[in-house]
Amino acid sequence: MKFIGAHVSASGGLENAAIRAHELEATAFALFTKNQRQWRAAPLTDDIISNFKRACEKYNYGPGQILPHDSFLINLGHPDEDALEKSRKAFIDELQRCEQLGLTLLNFHPGSHLKQISEDECLAKIAQSINIALDKTQGVTAVIENTAGQGSNLGFRFEHLAAIIDGVEDKSRVGVCIDTCHAFAAGYDLRTVADCEKTFDEFEKIVGFEYLRGMHLNDAKSTFASRVDRHHSLGKGNIGHTPFSWIMRDSRFDGIPLILETINPDIWAEEIAWLKAQQDQQAVA
Ligand SMILES: [Zn+2]
Ligand SMILES: [Zn+2]
Repeated sequence: MKFIGAHVSASGGLENAAIRAHELEATAFALFTKNQRQWRAAPLTDDIISNFKRACEKYNYGPGQILPHDSFLINLGHPDEDALEKSRKAFIDELQRCEQLGLTLLNFHPGSHLKQISEDECLAKIAQSINIALDKTQGVTAVIENTAGQGSNLGFRFEHLAAIIDGVEDKSRVGVCIDTCHAFAAGYDLRTVADCEKTFDEFEKIVGFEYLRGMHLNDAKSTFASRVDRHHSLGKGNIGHTPFSWIMRDSRFDGIPLILETINPDIWAEEIAWLKAQQDQQAVA
C-alpha cells in the first residue's frame, strides 16, 4: 500500500493540515508542528493536541502516514558549541512535540559544517546530537533527509547517511527520507528506469531499504549534479516523470509517507491522482 500526499500548511491550527490533506485526497501528509523559521514556539496545549488527533482519526491518517519536518534553523552538526547546544535543545523540543501529538517520525536535514570542521567531525556531531535527543524522548524515529549538498550541507552522499546511522546507538529509532530532487542535484541520476535502478541499488548497498522511512517526491529545476536545491512540479523539471512512476510500482516504497514538496500547491491534487494512477501502469523503459 502506498501512502501519497504533500507537505501541507498547518496555518490556523495543526488539525488543518489533516483537513487540507483530505481535501487533496491524500493518504499521507507532511507538516511543520511549529513555525519553521523561528526558534521558539508556544508549547502544545491539550486542546491543540486533541484537535489534531481527532482530525487525523476522522480522515484516517495514522502516525505511519504523517511525516513532520523540523525547523530549518536547526544544525545538529554545528561547529560552535553554544550554537550546537541551541540546535540540540530545539531538536529535542521538536521530537517532544511529535511525541505529544502521537506522531512517530521526525524528518530533518542532517547539518552543515560551515567550513569550520571536517565532514567526518560534523557527521559524528550529528550522530551524537541524535543520540542525546533519542535518549530524552520515546517512540519517535529520527528521519535523516538526504540533501542536495548546497553550501556546506552534509547528507548529499548515501555514505553520509550511513555514517550518521552508524554513530546512532538505537538503530530502531533512526531512518532516512530520500528526496528525489536532492538526490538528482547531488549526482544520483533518476532520469531513466536504468538510472533509478542503479541509484536505488546503491542506496540498498550503502544505507539499506530497512532504514527508508519516507520519500520526498520532487522534480528539479536544478540541473544534474549541480548541488543546487530547487524543486519543480512532477514531470516539469530536469528529472521528468520516470522515477515517480517507477517508485509507484516498486513495493520497496510501500507503507511509508511519499510526500510532494513540489512548487505549485494548486496542482497537488492532480499530482497525487497521477501518482496513484501510476500504480496500475505497466512499466515503461
Ligand atoms: Zn525534501
Ligand atoms: Zn529541497
